[in-house]
Amino acid sequence: MEPQRAQEDHVVSLVANYAAALHVGAPRVRFVTTPFGPCYEALFNRIEIDRGTLALPDALLRIVVAHEVGHATQRKSMLLDFAWTVLCVAALVSIPCMVFATSPDEDLWRVSVPGAGFALSLIACRKGWRAHGAKRSAAFELDADAKAASICGPASALAALEAMAERGHIDAARLHAMRARLAQVEQ
Ligand SMILES: [Zn+2]
Repeated sequence: MEPQRAQEDHVVSLVANYAAALHVGAPRVRFVTTPFGPCYEALFNRIEIDRGTLALPDALLRIVVAHEVGHATQRKSMLLDFAWTVLCVAALVSIPCMVFATSPDEDLWRVSVPGAGFALSLIACRKGWRAHGAKRSAAFELDADAKAASICGPASALAALEAMAERGHIDAARLHAMRARLAQVEQ
């Protein structure tokens, strides 16, 4: 078997093992040639692994795969977040549409003032929404790291995060959380 195919099979079996360990259905795995790193797609319950990840040393690869399977355990929450976003955007857009549709032509000037107010509040909402989204995704990352640590051990998880941080893929909060986790275990 060619080496890349063997490595892909290795990843698929890691995903199956880790999913069983985390009591979640094994997500599908898709091997891609894009340079954006590994990711989990909640909508399709699918992990994408790029060539760069596939070429990682085995200890690192295992942590990355365990982290992505960790995201699969968050699928329900991720989909709910997505559904809420879609619902809220739909509601925000449909309110002014209904106001305009139900107002007689001569009254349009009267809705243009609240309309402008609405547009301004929409801009304000977007800012808050983005901050909320960033907070949620940071929490998802920390939780996936915790699950990777529960499978592979916090010491190897920390070593992997440190190696990835050197390449600029990991933010400081995740490193900090993993160091704290390791310190707690070692106590
Ligand atoms: Zn992640």
